[in-house]
Amino acid sequence: MAYAYDTNNIFAKILRGEIPCNKLLETEHSLAFHDIRPQAPHHVLVIPKGPYVTFDHFALEASDAEKADFLTAIGKVCAALGVQPGEGGAGYRAISNAGNDGVQEVPHLHVHILGGRVLGRMLE
Ligand code: C5P
Repeated sequence: MAYAYDTNNIFAKILRGEIPCNKLLETEHSLAFHDIRPQAPHHVLVIPKGPYVTFDHFALEASDAEKADFLTAIGKVCAALGVQPGEGGAGYRAISNAGNDGVQEVPHLHVHILGGRVLGRMLE
């Protein structure tokens, strides 16, 4: 089954500069900005610039350069927020919601980076 990408989704509009975002950092293939409805003291969204709907879509169809750039952008976001446990930070959570069961609101891949408080257990 082919992935269908909606070019009118709100993150596509952010990438086109049609609506603003509170940018944290930008790389060749990725953009990171602060979530407008933060669920923690740190809440940043990292998105690829390419038209990918979900994590699996990106994993299967993005180029190696896009994948490397995206992972690096996530690492740079953690460093910018100072949350890396290996560097004395207090930690973070990285999550990506996909599709109906994942309760994905915006159909453009985004990884949430949450930190700045103890986040509680997700899985028992
Ligand atoms: O993972 P999910 O698709 O549910 O989350 C979308 C996220 O995008 C929400 O946390 C929402 O607050 C955020 N958002 C944003 N800026 C917008 C629209 C949505 O940060 N303009």
